[in-house]
Amino acid sequence: MGVRKTIAVIRGDGIGPEIVGEALRVLDTVANCYEHTFVYDDVDMGGVAIDKWGDPLPQEMLEKCLRSDSVLLGAVGGRKWDGVPGDKRPEKGLLRLRAGMGVYSNNRPAKIWKQLADASPLKREIVEKGIDFMIVRELTGGIYFGTHRTEETDGQLCATDVLRYTEREIERIGRIGFETARKRRGRLCSVEKSNVLDSSRLWKKVLHGLAAEYPDVELTDMLVDNCAMQIVKDPSQFDVIVTENMFGDILSDEASMITGSIGMIPSSSLGDGTRGLYEPIHGSAPDIAGLDVANPIGTILSAGMLLRYSFGLDAEADEVERAVERVLDEGYRTADILGDGVGCQKIGCREMGTRIAQAVRDAKG
Ligand code: NAD
Repeated sequence: MGVRKTIAVIRGDGIGPEIVGEALRVLDTVANCYEHTFVYDDVDMGGVAIDKWGDPLPQEMLEKCLRSDSVLLGAVGGRKWDGVPGDKRPEKGLLRLRAGMGVYSNNRPAKIWKQLADASPLKREIVEKGIDFMIVRELTGGIYFGTHRTEETDGQLCATDVLRYTEREIERIGRIGFETARKRRGRLCSVEKSNVLDSSRLWKKVLHGLAAEYPDVELTDMLVDNCAMQIVKDPSQFDVIVTENMFGDILSDEASMITGSIGMIPSSSLGDGTRGLYEPIHGSAPDIAGLDVANPIGTILSAGMLLRYSFGLDAEADEVERAVERVLDEGYRTADILGDGVGCQKIGCREMGTRIAQAVRDAKG
């Protein structure tokens, strides 16, 4: 029996419309092959919404997202809107969307596709061990959301930023970590700085308190400084990393760097319930907008994550990932992942989407 779901679609700015168009092509193919119905509801956000409505995320657009079963986003922003006042900037739309949807977890896979191993700045022998892990980052608490103060004390300026977490905030992100590990290889590494910080000691205590509820997941602990080293020394050891906001911000950028291909990386942001926000990690790439050269794979894989984490369609999500794998195996590359080009064929955004959709169709026979 197929499912019927509504997806709020935010094409956004720059390359957004091109890459989202290809992700929808793949979703349509999944719907056809598996007898699902996906209804798309277009949402204006970012620069396009500023031009049309004078607001990067009008309330009615946010409400469309809240009525949907899940949200797919391309990217927003561009030089054209650099001069608009702070609260009207395209990125404000994104922050308001995250807050409005109540998403408190950002999840980014770091995976090296064997076909693109040369793009990684890591040594081949490290890459060949296999890199495929997920960073689950707390998104709405910690030091970024604590009080920030600068005052003069004893004749000099003194700045304070407060790092605060409640048990409840830690528990809910911890659960996303355990649930994610459950859907992958069953290993969760909790990353903190419990040798120094009280907030980290509470973090560790809450994570270990949850472990009894997830006997199928193996929980380990790692200090954040060690984790930063291990990500470049032996990333194959990780399956899922769960960590607080600032540590996750830094580690997830480090992790995307080691894969060497920004156009390939999807992400999800989740809260309570199954509705999520799915988007590639890159921006709107105005330098290549409209040229049909953008890599749509990060967005296509985001759509795959949406199928898995919001709709529970694991087989379909696996199929999307396998289709990407097959098209890369056949040697097709967009410009950003072409490398030296030996044995490869350079194709555009549209053809990449079309080939991945075709690979999904072929697999279903
Ligand atoms: P960017 O990620 O857009 O681009 C960085 C570089 O990577 C550029 O050379 C670009 O051409 C390339 N690139 C990015 N995605 C690509 C893809 N799919 N295929 C091929 N090449 C790709 O970062 P930027 O240039 O710093 O920012 C551009 C705009 O995007 C800014 O307005 C910024 O505020 C915005 N932005 C939006 C988001 C978002 O919507 N979540 C995130 C980051 C930046």
